[in-house]
Amino acid sequence: MPAEQEYAAVLDLARLSARGDLPQLAHQLRRTSGCANPIHLQGFRTLVHAPTGQILHRYATDTEPGHRLRVACGNRRASRCPSCARTYAGDTFHLIRAGLVGDQAKGVPDSVRSHPRVFATLTAPSFGPVHNRPQSGACRCGTRHPDGSPVLGTPLDPERYDYAHAVLWNNHAPELWRRFTIYLRRDLARAAGLTSTEFSDHARVSFGKVAEYQRRGAVHFHAVIRIDGPEGASTAPPPWATVALLDRAIRSAARRTFVPLAQTPAVPALVLRWGTQVDVRPIRAFGDGSAITELAVASYVAKYATKSAEATESIDRRITERHEIAAHDLPDHTRRLIETCWDLDDQYPDRKLAHWSHMIGFRGHFSSKSPAYSTTLGALRQIRADFRAEQAHADLRDRLLAEGLPDLDDLPEAETLVLAHWAYAGSGLTPGESLLAAGITEQLEHNRTAAREESSRLAQEMEE
Ligand SMILES: [Zn+2]
Ligand SMILES: [Zn+2]
Repeated sequence: MPAEQEYAAVLDLARLSARGDLPQLAHQLRRTSGCANPIHLQGFRTLVHAPTGQILHRYATDTEPGHRLRVACGNRRASRCPSCARTYAGDTFHLIRAGLVGDQAKGVPDSVRSHPRVFATLTAPSFGPVHNRPQSGACRCGTRHPDGSPVLGTPLDPERYDYAHAVLWNNHAPELWRRFTIYLRRDLARAAGLTSTEFSDHARVSFGKVAEYQRRGAVHFHAVIRIDGPEGASTAPPPWATVALLDRAIRSAARRTFVPLAQTPAVPALVLRWGTQVDVRPIRAFGDGSAITELAVASYVAKYATKSAEATESIDRRITERHEIAAHDLPDHTRRLIETCWDLDDQYPDRKLAHWSHMIGFRGHFSSKSPAYSTTLGALRQIRADFRAEQAHADLRDRLLAEGLPDLDDLPEAETLVLAHWAYAGSGLTPGESLLAAGITEQLEHNRTAAREESSRLAQEMEE
């Protein structure tokens, strides 16, 4: 933090401290896990005993610091809110992990560990040669680029790079994925000697996937692909379902998938396909060198779920007017990709290329899964919300009992009435609040790292 900013933050902290509600403020910020851009709410909630009209409890934000309640923004982009992005990454980790090792509490039996499953990576094809770091040594340009060099992933010859193909490919990547899953089911059915309709009586294929940008600005997908029995994770897969069969079917389905694009006045007809590099690795419970471990897959996918919400060197918010592009300090390659989205916008009116230009054309979800894979992110958020609501309920019940009011648990639901009104009152943090929030986020991160280290130590011990 620059010195003036730090000084402003300390001054502001002194102001907050003088106001006398610093502990309450810290408590609020802790409940948002140190969200960098909380939403401010003003309002009240009153719990009334309906038959008598007695007010059992009233909560209003005028008793809160600054007369407002701060709630987490929930943004999953780390550049907007590191704290909420981390919560999202954590949810994704548990989601992917539950699909791999099972989780009774989330309704995924641990027998899924014996189902054939792989970690597959599907990439975009080449749109023209780019600077890279080949194993053999020098890039095609003759230079040995150091790791992290900004030149990596940019075209050797920008004039000949197929920018139109690149952004159209990103834009249709979710459709390519959808078609890939259809081919995959078909190929598996054929290998098992079944028709596509019969297939669903024997097996189900489930997916948990994330999208990520490569340095060249092309989207690629990492996916956990698993074969279950006909009823999903809780049923045993048929005997013909093996990792080798799944591996073969993924490769052949990826080869066959395509999305044709008709020609437009400015762009010739195109056939969009996956790149030839399809990586498929079996997933084992514990590492034996040849396969990737469950824990590694879950951490990998979670890491990319938030990292990929930000296109490499791109813009973290929507561009609404073309001239806004100039206001961003972007590398040439990224700028050209974004400009191409605007150039082609009227050629493909239903593709909303300009609208998604900050995502280099990509309009899909960064992490998604088939219903059978495991619990959903929504369900995880609900578990957390339920937990908080239960705590709040228990606190309230205790307080009412202490005041000699009726036991909340004995009141039929029909006899209680909730009156509430909430209004948006702004967002963000003052410099002093930011300092507090950053401290909270740091502490949480420290605890998480310690917990992760402990669990990988345990996993290692079990392996030995
Ligand atoms: Zn946030
Ligand atoms: Zn090079």
